[in-house]
Amino acid sequence: MDVSALVRKYYDLPVAVTNDANAAALGEMLYGAAKGMKDFIVITLGTGLGSGIVSRGELVYGADGFAGEIGHTIVDPQGRECGCGQRGHLETYASATGICRTVSELISVRRGESELRSIAPRDLTSRMIAGAADRGDEIAKEAFEITGRILGMKLADSVAHLSPEAIILFGGMAAAGALIFDPTKRSLEEHLLPIYRNKVKLLPSGLKEGDTAVLGASALIWNEILNKRT
Ligand SMILES: [Zn+2]
Repeated sequence: MDVSALVRKYYDLPVAVTNDANAAALGEMLYGAAKGMKDFIVITLGTGLGSGIVSRGELVYGADGFAGEIGHTIVDPQGRECGCGQRGHLETYASATGICRTVSELISVRRGESELRSIAPRDLTSRMIAGAADRGDEIAKEAFEITGRILGMKLADSVAHLSPEAIILFGGMAAAGALIFDPTKRSLEEHLLPIYRNKVKLLPSGLKEGDTAVLGASALIWNEILNKRT
């Protein structure tokens, strides 16, 4: 039995179920940075990398409801081990966990001073890396540069698949602002086919992080009710 059928058994209410990235995409469309847009992608940069795709004003679910796992597309087939069991997936590089792994690797191969050397890998957070980068720490800045370069390259693939009007970055790491947006935008433009260049907007989320779960869920149910009426 699927979850919505189970809930309907106990409550006489409309029920809709989706994942957090899809709910965030609907939240952005109704209340946030994607207001008035019909074709866009939301990327959530958290512990992993989630994505919600909207095409022609509709969430893309695919044949079985699992479309839009951009975090599990391949950057390097011999690369880092991913939580899903495969190797080299985007989220092992472009996520809070990914950038911490990048810093650990850089610390072992670079000789320069870094305030991050004194932090145990298990205690390191993407917020600490952003703070260090703001203070001019070379390893922290390089880690953001590498993360943005990989993310931009893979977003260029997504643009070729979907031709979105905008890509919206959301989540803890997106709060690092120019540190992540600048290298991502540069790499995105560099890897795009000329027909897409300088057209796709790369935007910060228009939702407050603490509000997203509830706004996304609210947008999901509005979406469900409005679709049934038409
Ligand atoms: Zn994976």
